[in-house]
Amino acid sequence: MKTLDSLMVNATEYNLLRYAAGQNICCPACGAIMDCRKTVIATVYGTPKGKAEKIASQYVQCDKCWEERKHHLENGVKAAQAKMPDAKIRVELVDGRDARFNDLE
Ligand SMILES: [Zn+2]
Repeated sequence: MKTLDSLMVNATEYNLLRYAAGQNICCPACGAIMDCRKTVIATVYGTPKGKAEKIASQYVQCDKCWEERKHHLENGVKAAQAKMPDAKIRVELVDGRDARFNDLE
């Protein structure tokens, strides 16, 4: 069951990457043509104390821009967490370079 779940997650996330690359066409940061295998989607989830988790923000960019800029997101999350110690903040990445997508092309 666990294997089936991960296969479904991989297929779903691969389609998400394809959708994000197709929607953006060009990287919003550098203007390079998007390719789903070179696309990174970063989603920031926040759970305020006593409330349900929701998406706080989401970023789509090419792999090169992600590598150059990911520290900004990490620092922003740390600063937000420091301001709201009772909230739970987490980042989920879908990285098109991930080998788990190799069989889906
Ligand atoms: Zn870029």
